[in-house]
Amino acid sequence: MQLCITEEIAPQGYERLIFVEESESKLRAFICIHSTACGPAAGGCRMWNYDTLEEARYDALRLAEGMTYKNALAELGLGGGKAVIIGNPKTDKSEALFRAFGRAVDRLQGAYYTAEDVGISTADMEIVAQETPYAVGLDNCETSVGDPSPYTAEGVFQCLKLGAADVFGSDDLTGRKVLVQGLGHVGMSLASKLFDAGADLIVSDINVEAVELAVTKFDASVCAVDRVFDQEMDIFAPCALGGILTEQTVAKLSAKLVCGAANNQLAVPEVAAQLQQQNICYLPDYMVNAGGIISLAAEIHNFGREYQQERLDRISTRAETLLNLCGTTGKTPSRVAHEMAVQVIESAIERDTQQHVNTR
Ligand code: NAD
Repeated sequence: MQLCITEEIAPQGYERLIFVEESESKLRAFICIHSTACGPAAGGCRMWNYDTLEEARYDALRLAEGMTYKNALAELGLGGGKAVIIGNPKTDKSEALFRAFGRAVDRLQGAYYTAEDVGISTADMEIVAQETPYAVGLDNCETSVGDPSPYTAEGVFQCLKLGAADVFGSDDLTGRKVLVQGLGHVGMSLASKLFDAGADLIVSDINVEAVELAVTKFDASVCAVDRVFDQEMDIFAPCALGGILTEQTVAKLSAKLVCGAANNQLAVPEVAAQLQQQNICYLPDYMVNAGGIISLAAEIHNFGREYQQERLDRISTRAETLLNLCGTTGKTPSRVAHEMAVQVIESAIERDTQQHVNTR
């Protein structure tokens, strides 16, 4: 039951990169803390069948950095971190594995809060929580809202309407062709809101049952998964995978607005400029999909529902500021979002420095 924790040399710009191993439970995981400038790092734990350790390490680094900007932008008093467990979530889960992971998180003494992410369920997190108080996203917690996905969908929906007002001159979605890619926890909830708002829904998912449900419930048209970028649409709402906006796919994209929940939608940063050149408004994923982390922040800080609602409402206010700044500066939304997040981080660092000076 020997937990082996190795501090790797973190790349420049990162605070910590930890490799965790435990032979009995076969746990192999990376925990990455990108920044604690704004507060303790928070970000989900992903379980994935990575082919190599290098692939897992890269994913942990990339996701942890993304959490820093998402958490800063949402002004949650949290830094950015992420964990990845190497293994097949369908076959490699065990109580011992999650307990070992929980002990590893506990060793960090609150520098990192973990939660569910791809491949990890609330039930898994409940096991982690038996070993550490630094696990959130639990069903039995007083301040927990349960599944954060409807909150994520609500934030995306508010931003989508705002984007529509900016691009089409009206936030009325009646008859607007909106393609929702991915009908999972967030996508289905978003599709429901869009249907209620009168949108003309097009849906795409590898899960046939989810597609059938959307057709029945929302009178949606269906788009084959490999034809998404050939489809005529006004608005594209990616709610499945990251990396879908590439030079090639954007070249074919007919939408004038992109607003969805999927993390890391831009395959490479340069795609932001291409979207702007093609006159497509892209609302940055980590700005619009913060609803989920807001509910986790409420759990971490022990804040109630008013906090969640108020923070949720701020997502679209922030998106409005972003669109105004894009209009006045000509910068891409990605660049403006990044600058807004960096500003929050720098203010936190400044406050911290000032406090140190004052207490000397
Ligand atoms: P989910 O796993 O419940 O749903 C994903 C859906 O995408 C599934 O229905 C799956 O079948 C579908 N899918 C997978 N590959 C596809 C493809 N090639 N084409 C079309 N559909 C495909 O996940 P979720 O919780 O709904 O999250 C969706 C996205 O939003 C993810 O990228 C996630 O990281 C991001 N996100 C989610 C939350 C949240 O609160 N759940 C918060 C922030 C960001």
